[in-house]
Amino acid sequence: MSGTLYLCATPIGNLGDMTPRCIETLSMVDLIAAEDTRQTVKLLNHFGIDTKMTSYYEHNKYEKGGYLISLLKEGKNIAVVSDAGTPGISDPGEELVEECIKNDITVVSIPGPAALISAVITSGLCTGRFCFEGFLSMNRRQRKIHLEEIKNEKRTMIFYEAPHKLCRTLDDLYETLGDRRIALARELTKKFEQIIRTTIKEAIAMYEETPPKGEYVLVIEGATEQQEAVDYSDLSIEEHVKSFQDEGMSEMDAIKAVAKQRGLRKNEVYAAVKKK
Ligand code: SAM
Repeated sequence: MSGTLYLCATPIGNLGDMTPRCIETLSMVDLIAAEDTRQTVKLLNHFGIDTKMTSYYEHNKYEKGGYLISLLKEGKNIAVVSDAGTPGISDPGEELVEECIKNDITVVSIPGPAALISAVITSGLCTGRFCFEGFLSMNRRQRKIHLEEIKNEKRTMIFYEAPHKLCRTLDDLYETLGDRRIALARELTKKFEQIIRTTIKEAIAMYEETPPKGEYVLVIEGATEQQEAVDYSDLSIEEHVKSFQDEGMSEMDAIKAVAKQRGLRKNEVYAAVKKK
């Protein structure tokens, strides 16, 4: 009979969030597949767990996945853990689950921390319907496609972001979505946990003064009926700029946003606005 794959969520900063069931599962399985064994060994040592580990991460997931499936078929029980939080959420896990399902291997979740859930429930924004957008790509074109896709999204949107990319992401969000309410959930469950509830524009200004530090989740308000109704293809360049100004952007910001959306140079938009 096949073994079971356990997807074990681990703390995102506060060891007090480790669940008894997670400790029990990590202690009883035959093998722990860890994103980074050097990171996970600290957790195992803290909780006195001496189960064998193997690495399972983005760049070995296919090759190592095959090996893990063969062990599961032999009847071994395996736990997957990432560096922090829930496996399969912007972390390795998804492909292994798919392979287990194809091979009739039981998959069990051992729930616990996930940064996106802590962020959305503390954001003060609508939690009735939300969508998780993961990380924006580093690639310019991919980022633009992603942002264009969600411009009219009505549900609350959740993004993960690294501190060194946060300012660029806020600029891109402002240019594509306009000014919206945003909650920046920082260092969740840690000593310097902070939930900054503001607008995208104010967040940009704030980080001009103090550069971002720590881990962040961004929670952004979905499009309102009014924002969604704007179809820029029917607008002249001037009207397009004005529509952003009506949402509270300065003229220069509106010009930049229009240039980005239409794939024009800023001075072309500027000239169109100033020509009358
Ligand atoms: N699997 C994890 C989960 O369940 O949340 C996410 C892993 S992803 C590689 C790492 C990203 O999650 C970080 O860049 C940050 O956006 C977010 N994150 C993780 N821990 C966090 C924390 N304590 N506070 C805020 N954001 C966090």
